[in-house]
Amino acid sequence: MRFVLPPPAPASVAVEGTEARFAVRRIFCVGRNYAEHAREFGNDPDRDPPFFFTKPADAVVDSGTRVPYPPATAELHYEAELVVALGPGGSVWGCAAGNDLTRRDLQAEAKAMRRPWDMAKAFDASAVVGPLRPGPLPQGRICGVLNGTPRQQAQLSDMIWSVPEIIAHLSRLVTLAPGDLLFTGTPAGVGALVRGDRFTVEIDGLAPAVVTIG
Ligand code: MN
Repeated sequence: MRFVLPPPAPASVAVEGTEARFAVRRIFCVGRNYAEHAREFGNDPDRDPPFFFTKPADAVVDSGTRVPYPPATAELHYEAELVVALGPGGSVWGCAAGNDLTRRDLQAEAKAMRRPWDMAKAFDASAVVGPLRPGPLPQGRICGVLNGTPRQQAQLSDMIWSVPEIIAHLSRLVTLAPGDLLFTGTPAGVGALVRGDRFTVEIDGLAPAVVTIG
């Protein structure tokens, strides 16, 4: 096949223990999936079914990247999340620590005006993903650390919707495919990042996802 312009390089994330990378097809994100985080935005965690938004595949950046403070916002937020990488048939291929960077001011405006979240969630370099660990889902603790100070702490078992439930719900809406990434929601304690900040997402058993705002 010939193309009128050179096709872009595939978006990808690092994999632990190999030089080979995981090519990213799509990025699906769960809107709210920890009860305390739902409550901190005034929502009822018992009543709300899971809902989804997306980021473009090429929003991914590796751990250790210095991400420029994005344009058009004065309120960039971190969101520590477990990221699940899918293999064939909706299977879990591997997992990573991730950061769902968010323009919170644009999201609040979109919510108030009943407009889409894309410009709040799907901007350049908005999906920080640490090295993927192949294999089953991790168990234990997820923690978000801002400049050395813990800001988000939860157990992965605190998720309202488990990863298999997320995959089941999402599979009713789209046909999941190898290369898809799932951001599985963030615990309470989200907050702002300013230039020079360093935010680390730690998940038991996984390599950390680190981002510096430059
Ligand atoms: Mn999120």
